[in-house]
Amino acid sequence: MKTVPDLCRRRAELSPDAVAFETVGSGETLTFAAMDAAVGRAVGALADLGLVEGDRLAVLCHNDPAFFVLLFAAARARLVFVPLNWRLTPAELVPILDDCSPKLLICDAAHADLAESLSGRVAVLTFDRFHARCAVAPVSDARPAAWDTERPWYLLYTSGTTGKPKAVIQTAGMALANAVNIQQATGMGAADVTLNFLPLFHTAGINLHALPLFIAGGRSLVIPKFDADTVMTLLTGTRISLFFGVPAVYQALSLHPAFAQADLGAVRHWGCGGAPIAEPLLRAFLARGATVCNGMGMTETGPTVFLMDPREAAAKIGSVGRPQILAEVRLVDLEDRDVAAGEAGELLFRGPGITPGYWNNPDATARAFAPGGWLRSGDIGRMDADGCYFVVDRIKDMFISGGENVYPAEVEAALHAHPAVLDVAVLGVPDARWGEAGHALVVLRPGAEADPDSLRVHARERLAGYKVPRDITIVTDFPRTAAGKIQKHVLRELLARGRGD
Ligand code: ATP
Repeated sequence: MKTVPDLCRRRAELSPDAVAFETVGSGETLTFAAMDAAVGRAVGALADLGLVEGDRLAVLCHNDPAFFVLLFAAARARLVFVPLNWRLTPAELVPILDDCSPKLLICDAAHADLAESLSGRVAVLTFDRFHARCAVAPVSDARPAAWDTERPWYLLYTSGTTGKPKAVIQTAGMALANAVNIQQATGMGAADVTLNFLPLFHTAGINLHALPLFIAGGRSLVIPKFDADTVMTLLTGTRISLFFGVPAVYQALSLHPAFAQADLGAVRHWGCGGAPIAEPLLRAFLARGATVCNGMGMTETGPTVFLMDPREAAAKIGSVGRPQILAEVRLVDLEDRDVAAGEAGELLFRGPGITPGYWNNPDATARAFAPGGWLRSGDIGRMDADGCYFVVDRIKDMFISGGENVYPAEVEAALHAHPAVLDVAVLGVPDARWGEAGHALVVLRPGAEADPDSLRVHARERLAGYKVPRDITIVTDFPRTAAGKIQKHVLRELLARGRGD
């Protein structure tokens, strides 16, 4: 597949008066026809500002329908769109700007100061000023050309749970494959309503909270960012039919005072992914009538490769389900040979939803793919006898203690089963006797008490001795990415510094 028509224009032709985006609070709505018109004005203004095919257009904003106008305008104008992480400092953003060299950065009012601090590197406009340009620039009303499904549409810098960010190229072809996968897995259609709150500089904010539903003609409710009160109120109302979150979001909701009495029955599909979700948390939602479907993927897979079937989710806790309709999966050993049934191996992915590679980084792209075009996930997985997959751990997080492989995710799951434990991260650290040993960092539930010794006894009851963490430290919180993932590389640095090495 080389081309598709302009999806924004086609959607506007199919359902002009349906609402694409609704801003929660103000109640402001943008129909598909209004989106299409706004995209036409934005394309005109961007051309007027001197942006030409291939230029990069960066944006720094909280969740806002205006973001999606720019996303579609970039496609129509053949620009490469770059959503930037608003949690980063100027010093962290500069290398990203150096990497993708955008011609223009558009920001919302909340990020005007941060954007201004970058104005030595890139021209900056606030949304207000950009919209003023849109009002006076010649509107681009030429019939939009078809989209090349393989050219870079936008770049997503990965969240950096492992360190230095790199930009994953996203294409229109990937968006279409993802729409098929998500619509297939959830039955998503024009009558559905989702809530858009995960940050738009990560894949889920665009590809789970908006694009598949936009293509299906449904409505996205938009809030600037996650806040448990607003999300809980919306979830216990009757409007949201599909909800996608990450484990940190589900955890925050489970701690909300309204959770214990919440009626979550209006939401017909609950999806979760991005990191392992603890069994007690899944069970807490099941007890409230919400069957959370665990899914797995990467920024590189645009995003989901797996999304649990709701009919199996309660019986297969811990699994991410089967590969989606347009995804192919292999499990291989260190020599890229397929492992035997039931054995653990590295997950390799292939299909139209997979990125062509990293922006400006042919070495990283070459390293990411195995022969045959298979993307290396860097994750260890296994498949059970029913064809359901489990993510065992990240290869880089696994450590070897006394010659035995230890998967921190397994140790974390065992500690999570302790009633006082809210969250836990286990890392392999150098050990004079065993080569490496586990160090668990544990956050306790509010008001709960437990000491390292009792946690170690609890772990020993569930795990072989070599898996039980040598050290357990109670902490108050973890460094996290904007998607709520624990940044183990930061923890590792903190632990190393604490040890003085
Ligand atoms: P970096 O690329 O810098 O490491 P990142 O890995 O956080 O950052 P993402 O693409 O957001 O970037 O995350 C993909 C990874 O998240 C997967 O490779 C996998 O390790 C993990 N992951 C995603 N979903 C799940 C899940 N349901 N269970 C366990 N792990 C998951």
